[in-house]
Amino acid sequence: MNYQHILDDIYKASILQPKIGKVASYIPELSEINPNKLGISLTTINGENFSIGDSEERFSIQSISKVLSLTLAISLLGEKIWERVGVEPSGTAFNSLVQLEYEKGIPRNPFINAGAIVIADILVSHLKNPKEDFLSFIRVSSGIRTINFDESVAISEKNSGFRNAALANFLKSFGNLQNDVDEVLDFYFHQCAISMSCRELTQAFYFFANEGISQSGKQIINKSQVKRMNALMQTCGFYDESGEFTFRVGLPGKSGVGGGIVALLPKQFIVSTWSPRLNSNGNSELGMYVLEELTTKTGMSIF
Ligand code: GLU
Repeated sequence: MNYQHILDDIYKASILQPKIGKVASYIPELSEINPNKLGISLTTINGENFSIGDSEERFSIQSISKVLSLTLAISLLGEKIWERVGVEPSGTAFNSLVQLEYEKGIPRNPFINAGAIVIADILVSHLKNPKEDFLSFIRVSSGIRTINFDESVAISEKNSGFRNAALANFLKSFGNLQNDVDEVLDFYFHQCAISMSCRELTQAFYFFANEGISQSGKQIINKSQVKRMNALMQTCGFYDESGEFTFRVGLPGKSGVGGGIVALLPKQFIVSTWSPRLNSNGNSELGMYVLEELTTKTGMSIF
């Protein structure tokens, strides 16, 4: 398969697409981003990389980090975490409060904000130096030692994170948050403020396509845990548009309001896109287009 040729063609077609969608503005620091950025990167299971556009430029991975925090929590606690968070698609917005009321403080899944805040609480309980340990987990599993938090994004989100503060307090009222609310939120805002490029994301997500083994040969999680992670990305990775993403693209993946998407085909490849204009569900408009073109042109999807 000539991936570079395919990506070049898709890139050329993408920049001619109508410029629809809006850059996320509810986190002030994210609204500063040039909306016309477009990066695409694909790493095969053999380690070959094909990239085009702004694929080496780092951006705020935001909710994509929820997959990595869940991975670390699963590797530490195994199946116990499902006592505190569910595995069903939410069908509501990522920052919704209403569902929590009906579900008595057990978030529907770990990729909506409420669920990710519970996972953050679990990590704060089990890690000695939560922020540093989480960073070092990502550095080791990706093999990229320079991955870091963007402090200005973390501060910006902290200063405007009223909904997340409401969610954390609501969880606490149900007894599903054990640590200090501010400490958990500080961890959560930092995990969302990790910066990575498209190419780096394909390296960080490599083990999901390779039965839990990283590019450097380290077993990060076991095969059964990889199955669970990929299933959750497939059913819950795209806010209340996970069905649409499955329908159009047909790969497990995760998006973030920074405009990034990462998706993978087990035993074949990991692909990542970055384009900051978002549709009304918070997913990158052009990123979805690129990935739909990729799986349509190559016939490579899990379906
Ligand atoms: N940090 C963002 C928030 O909590 C993450 C949202 C996202 O990327 O879905 O609102």
